[in-house]
Amino acid sequence: MFIKITKKKFDKNYIWHPYTSITKPLKCYLIKNAKGAILKLKNGTNLIDGMSSWWSCIHGYNNSILNKSIKKQLKKISHIMFGGFTHKEAIKLCNNLINITPKKLKCVFLADSGSVAIEIALKMALQYWQSKGEYRKKVLTLKQGYHGDTFGAMSVCDPENSMHNIYKKYLTTHIFAESPKCKFNNIWDKNDINSFKYLISKHSKEIACVILEPIVQGAGGMKIYNPNYLKKVSELCKKYKILLILDEIATGFGRTGKLFAFEHSKIIPDILCLGKSLTGGYMTLSATITTKKIANIISNNKSGCFMHGPTFMGNPLACSVANANIKILNKNKWKKKVKYIENYFKKKLIPLINYDKILDIRILGAIGVIETFNFIDTNKIQRFLINNGVWVKPFRKLIYLMPPFIIKKKELKILINSIINLFK
Ligand SMILES: *Cc1c(COP(=O)(O)O)cnc(C)c1O
Repeated sequence: MFIKITKKKFDKNYIWHPYTSITKPLKCYLIKNAKGAILKLKNGTNLIDGMSSWWSCIHGYNNSILNKSIKKQLKKISHIMFGGFTHKEAIKLCNNLINITPKKLKCVFLADSGSVAIEIALKMALQYWQSKGEYRKKVLTLKQGYHGDTFGAMSVCDPENSMHNIYKKYLTTHIFAESPKCKFNNIWDKNDINSFKYLISKHSKEIACVILEPIVQGAGGMKIYNPNYLKKVSELCKKYKILLILDEIATGFGRTGKLFAFEHSKIIPDILCLGKSLTGGYMTLSATITTKKIANIISNNKSGCFMHGPTFMGNPLACSVANANIKILNKNKWKKKVKYIENYFKKKLIPLINYDKILDIRILGAIGVIETFNFIDTNKIQRFLINNGVWVKPFRKLIYLMPPFIIKKKELKILINSIINLFK
């Protein structure tokens, strides 16, 4: 039977939101529409977006180029099974991805979400070893990492502090190195790699792959670490002939000031995972990219196949908007925009370190992080920010900003001022 109550009540009683309970639902706002960096609520409130809908809407909402690409594709074909069919937009996208990533990365697997891209990367690594006649099943990763919510991905998220604590006993156990302490701009402390170095040498014969988030550990703590750390990781993986998977799902497509965060360390992964802003935040799509050599070895196993194939693999609408996203990025205007945001963050946020409540400020590209000493009263702070006309979603001790690259100067000013006012 159709339930007749207000929309808000229906949402509260019958719909799960991310990481919430049905009995104590999270406060949710009814959105009407959005344009550029402005979110318009049903109640008439306008909010400046400081989140890019979780790292994804880098070119803002209702972007005319992205809109056009989907509309054009809609008239041709919205979806087609990728098993037995191919299409122009998928071919163009994979060619684009090969073109904008390091030369070595040449074989692309398209899937439907970031977590699934991680599952695919892990399966590739396991199967790579299987094809070589070795049964390797351990993954070496970092504490405070985040790689998604599906089972394989959960098993490589921080084992203690992560939101997956509840499922810990159901997961495969992997190997966790201490998360890097040496900050992005600090002088490199060579001891920072010790834990990782020790574990990779100790378990080198069991480890199939290393997986980590390059330079920025996102949802696990918003840590921004020294590029030398990643460089050392890459060297150690080469030394022990262990595959290196980089999870660029959050950092990819310009967010850190480079097109991909691993460029800060001038390294090349064996397997690269992309998602989130791959479609400019329009549709759900991910890509796992590897080398021809690894793809060939994977294909040499008994079955001769890589056994994965999501229903919506290579969805034409998603591929077409991803191509439009890359077309916008290739115009290279994003670099100046991200630099402007970075400089503005530095100018306005760094002085906040003098406030008693603030423990640390971290900035890289269009990412600004404020870490407080105490846990944040999320509801209270969010209400304050909404009353000030901005959308930011703090968690634990973190207030973090990652606005769309196209945010206007005056919008950025309002966004930052409302954050500053929190601590006055
Ligand atoms: C969001 C995220 C994922 C998971 O992507 P989903 O599309 O939410 O499944 C994986 N890794 C990182 C680093 C992420 O930020």
